[in-house]
Amino acid sequence: MDCIFCKIRDGEIPKEFTYEDKDVMVFPDINPIRPTHLLIVSKKHIRDFLDVDEDSLAKMTKILKKMIKETGLEKKGYRIGINGGGAQIISHLHIHLMGPWSKHEI
Ligand code: AMP
Ligand code: ZN
Repeated sequence: MDCIFCKIRDGEIPKEFTYEDKDVMVFPDINPIRPTHLLIVSKKHIRDFLDVDEDSLAKMTKILKKMIKETGLEKKGYRIGINGGGAQIISHLHIHLMGPWSKHEI
């Protein structure tokens, strides 16, 4: 399967992780739109948000919360996003964490 995030997971594409455990990896978006722009990525290849199981989503959510706190975005303002249904560029489930994001922009 020609999936860039699977290749990152498998070490075929070198990537410095911000966080990693057996289920989830986090790294900066290569094309950031905010000073902080992280991708929280399931290690399991999940094609679309509609295909995600509760367990995988819970694991991603737990790490997402941890990243919001560790980056300081908890107080600065943040936005989270998932593209799906063909709006995504990479069909391997990931959550964008972006910030700071002032309230009037949200
Ligand atoms: P989307 O699938 O629409 O959520 O967008 C995929 C995101 O992955 C984009 O914001 C890209 O900038 C980002 N991206 C693509 N390739 C890489 C990479 N090798 N490392 C980090 N981020 C990437
Ligand atoms: Zn994949």
